[in-house]
Amino acid sequence: MAIRFFNSFSRQVEEFVPIEPGRVRLYTCGPTVYNFAHIGNFRAYVFEDLLQRHLEFRGLRVTRVMNLTDVDDKTIRGCRAAGLPLAEFTAPFKAAFFEDLDTLRIKRADHFPEATAADQIARMISMISTLVEKGHAYRADDGSVYFRIRSFPAYGRLAHIVLDELRPGARVSSDEYEKENVGDFALWKAWDEADGDVGWESPWGRGRPGWHIECSAMATGLLGPQLDIHCGGEDNIFPHHEAEIAQSECVTGLRFANFWMHCKHLRVEGSKMAKSAGNFFTLRDLMEKGWTGREVRYALISVKYREPLNFTIDGLAAARSALARLDEWSARIAEIAEIARVPAGGTVADFPEMEAFGSALDDDLNISAALAAVFELVRETNRRLDAGRLDAGQARALSAWWQGVLSVLAIEPEPEALPSEVAALLAERANARAAKDWKACDVIRDRIAALGWTVKDTKDGQKPMRA
Ligand code: AMP
Ligand code: ZN
Repeated sequence: MAIRFFNSFSRQVEEFVPIEPGRVRLYTCGPTVYNFAHIGNFRAYVFEDLLQRHLEFRGLRVTRVMNLTDVDDKTIRGCRAAGLPLAEFTAPFKAAFFEDLDTLRIKRADHFPEATAADQIARMISMISTLVEKGHAYRADDGSVYFRIRSFPAYGRLAHIVLDELRPGARVSSDEYEKENVGDFALWKAWDEADGDVGWESPWGRGRPGWHIECSAMATGLLGPQLDIHCGGEDNIFPHHEAEIAQSECVTGLRFANFWMHCKHLRVEGSKMAKSAGNFFTLRDLMEKGWTGREVRYALISVKYREPLNFTIDGLAAARSALARLDEWSARIAEIAEIARVPAGGTVADFPEMEAFGSALDDDLNISAALAAVFELVRETNRRLDAGRLDAGQARALSAWWQGVLSVLAIEPEPEALPSEVAALLAERANARAAKDWKACDVIRDRIAALGWTVKDTKDGQKPMRA
């Protein structure tokens, strides 16, 4: 079945065909490193991770770029308030971001370009120069360089804004603005006192890049003039992605991105997540409350990216119990699959849900349908297991399928370190087993159970598990 995604540009579900067969060029807007990323940001990153993993599951090679916005209005404001040089101010947030990616099992992108890197700044300046040469940009009285939106008739197409309704000649120097204030936007911002020691030399004097040109430069520089997919959260559509399209297409003359995919915002306990409302969570806040990265990942992933997601503690608890059910099932299946004596049998055709998992994700990453297929299969095969009607061949097919599912969902159990007391008891019990002292084996099993662990005897020896 063909892969189909909702394209924010056309506002339709379209068949996805990469420009280069077998290869996907994916650009994902990364964090602005002026604070710890909040779980809303992680909804966007987890959705993009699911997208990448599913494309890979379908045999496509994905080259992904995620930028780090380490200079913009917010980072400059932050470093000035902290009284630190910009790079020193952003460094801990960059480090924390990478730690959080690992906690949430988000695959590393191929490139994490930083906006302040010398080669990136040079590319931004070169793109702005081209825009000025082509008449798409101009230097204004305030010394900054602006993009002339009237020079690009397609401006507003992504966000569905009609240019005729705009105030002519309006200019906006801040990185973010509302549709009502639309106007020429800043490509290069002339240095002013609020910038402190942040600035680079350019043909237009000392200054710094606008946020939008950063992404155009990093995307086209690392992935070429045309992307297959460009992602972000819905708040990025305007003005950020609208501006990226205008800048990139006026420089290259080519369509910038074939697909635009945006996730809906995350809400917390029914209202918008905001520091002032006290419902602003970072991943670290949740870890401190005893939730795991796997549980947060599951809670974020389990609602389709285009549906609103209301993040609640009940939702995390539901994630915990769903995962426990899957862990229990996969352990049962693995155990049967290991029984090599039973002749192989059973075919994939026994379980249509196996196919349904991938097809659901082909359908605009319909995770709800994909998870419904998983849980239906769990129910059905648990029933068969209870009735002794699942053979080793079927279990092996299920195990292999499950590995594929895990490569997409990345929700396998955390490898848990064995407490030293349990390890010592297992060693003692291994001796008792060798001596065929079954009574001692049972006694030690009970002592292990008292520590919250179970032990199973398999042909490969004892297998400890958390009770
Ligand atoms: P920022 O650090 O603000 O540039 O945002 C980084 C990414 O997170 C962007 O793709 C945003 O669209 C996305 N994002 C921000 N807030 C939310 C939210 N509440 N829910 C989902 N995505 C978000
Ligand atoms: Zn961006």
